[in-house]
Amino acid sequence: MAGKQKNRCSFCGRTEDEVGFMISGLNGFICEDCAQQAYEITQEALGFKNKTSADVTTLDLKTLPKPKDIKTFLDQYVIGQEDAKRYLSVSVYNHYKRLLQSNDADEVEIEKSNIIMVGSTGTGKTLLARTIAKMLHVPFTIVDATVLTEAGYVGEDIESILTRLLQVADYNVPEAERGIVFIDEIDKIARKGDNPSITRDVSGEGVQQGLLKLLEGSVVLVPPQGGRKHPDQKMIPVNTKNILFICGGAFDGIERKIAQRLNTHVVGYNADRKAMMIDKDNLMQYIAPQDLKSFGLIPEIIGRLPVLTYLNPLDRNALRSILTEPKNSIIKQYIKLFEMDGVKLIFADDVYEFIVDKAIEYKLGARGLRSIVETIMMDVMFEIPSQKKKTYNVTIEYACKQLGKANLRHLQLSE
Ligand code: ADP
Repeated sequence: MAGKQKNRCSFCGRTEDEVGFMISGLNGFICEDCAQQAYEITQEALGFKNKTSADVTTLDLKTLPKPKDIKTFLDQYVIGQEDAKRYLSVSVYNHYKRLLQSNDADEVEIEKSNIIMVGSTGTGKTLLARTIAKMLHVPFTIVDATVLTEAGYVGEDIESILTRLLQVADYNVPEAERGIVFIDEIDKIARKGDNPSITRDVSGEGVQQGLLKLLEGSVVLVPPQGGRKHPDQKMIPVNTKNILFICGGAFDGIERKIAQRLNTHVVGYNADRKAMMIDKDNLMQYIAPQDLKSFGLIPEIIGRLPVLTYLNPLDRNALRSILTEPKNSIIKQYIKLFEMDGVKLIFADDVYEFIVDKAIEYKLGARGLRSIVETIMMDVMFEIPSQKKKTYNVTIEYACKQLGKANLRHLQLSE
């Protein structure tokens, strides 16, 4: 006897046995995967057309966090970096005040204050930007300037920056239009040297020119899916006037430019006193727009990033605090992971010191702290869930043994 004919999904053709479950219609069926896909496609399509400014969560000056509140919030997640936090808090507050200003033509117009943060890698630039976005509940995206190229070259078009923002905003254009974009590694698109290039500089000056129009505020046509793979896709106009751009970069070697400038300026009357006041161990704090120019950013870009701030290198104390103090510090995360298995995780104090020592010894910085803890904890995390232990103590002996087994140099390379 022939078996009962199986129902098939009218979209992908798979049978009931091959899918999780099937929804039946009048003349056909749809499987859960196709239904999900159909849902996503409609969301995307409707998103472009139907979202209006009414869908955007309303901002209001009374509920807008004040600079002090923003800084207090940042303090919970980011250790140190007092100057950067203050600059960011004020600029972000002003930025959102700007969004609230009336459109009255006679009024004083508050200009946009995009931000540039200079500081070695792993000192908290991205963390600061990310934390601010979390607080403000606005769409936030991180893009890496190194992948950007001028239109027509291999790499990503400048407009792709906005594609990402649109994606995180669920294609709600008005929402995306007041988001925050963090452009990382902005120093990598510096032109080589202070002089304008005569030859074409595909990844440097051209990209900077391209970025200008985003930073200054203009309507940009954005490919919704990004890239150039879909030449027929409908472009979405996005106005960047109210998008806050925060740029970050390590600007390796910029201290030399700062020192040069300070040396040439500290001459004549009062020179000795000024020279004495300069803290040679942390020249970054004296950074000025002309140093960015000497490094190779074009003046037009520098002009559109009026808020310039710096991050301090992380010293031993800072690394020690990063390990345990932030609201979601690495150690707190591990304690929580173990708690979920009903195990109380206890670290001996000297283990913290040991982790920090290793991060410094292998020059791993704050990013390395996690890799070190991960290396120490890997075996325990494998074993503990199958055991009946109620507490687990991480001792210095155990930490040494685990790190001894691992090759920390390998971590160094992967950073
Ligand atoms: P970058 O300056 O290169 O953008 P990140 O912000 O990405 O550095 O920092 C890398 C990681 O190091 C962060 O995710 C965080 O865990 C840690 N970290 C770095 N600086 C700090 C800091 N000041 N306070 C707390 N954590 C930090």
